Amino acid sequence: MKYNQYKPLSQSAKIFKMGRIEVICGPMFAGKTETLIGRLTEASNRGTCVEIFKTLLDNRCAQDLIMSHNSNSLPALSVRKAKDILSQLDFCDVVGIDEAKFFDDERINCVNILANQGKRIVLSGLDMAYVGQSFDLVARLMSVAEYVTKLHGICTQFGAAAFFSHILSKSNEKILLGKRKDYEVLCRACFYD
Ligand SMILES: [Zn+2]
Repeated sequence: MKYNQYKPLSQSAKIFKMGRIEVICGPMFAGKTETLIGRLTEASNRGTCVEIFKTLLDNRCAQDLIMSHNSNSLPALSVRKAKDILSQLDFCDVVGIDEAKFFDDERINCVNILANQGKRIVLSGLDMAYVGQSFDLVARLMSVAEYVTKLHGICTQFGAAAFFSHILSKSNEKILLGKRKDYEVLCRACFYD
């Protein structure tokens, strides 16, 4: 749209369109999916239509569920690409996306499109790889989000707040998911020790 074609929205139309993006991030075992499930359950209990998406790459539980490490779960739809979320979404007001880091580059566009339609988008995802570097796409999502919640775990070595995921497994798998036997979480002092 050209700038001179822009028609300002009325106040009530703006309120109707009040979408937003929320990102829940942190290391493994910090309760990201648990927090996502809590927010979506609360929205659902208020009578809001909620739809949840996950990546087909996440095979830690059934393809039609998201599940926290505390075994709380909600029904979800597995999709291959971020744009599949746009094509598969019904008329829901709240959209949950688990393991956001696995979706492709299109994800930023998709969540912006949905938020601009007035939807509330809640994403959860790991913000750093196990080498201590940020996931670029999650960092970009955080920058376009209205709200960012950074969770922490408990350092397995001496109990301080932990923000780093550390790999224990010798697996060469390119994409590893948070399984207890493969990772621990560490505080800064232990991670860089
Ligand atoms: Zn520590």
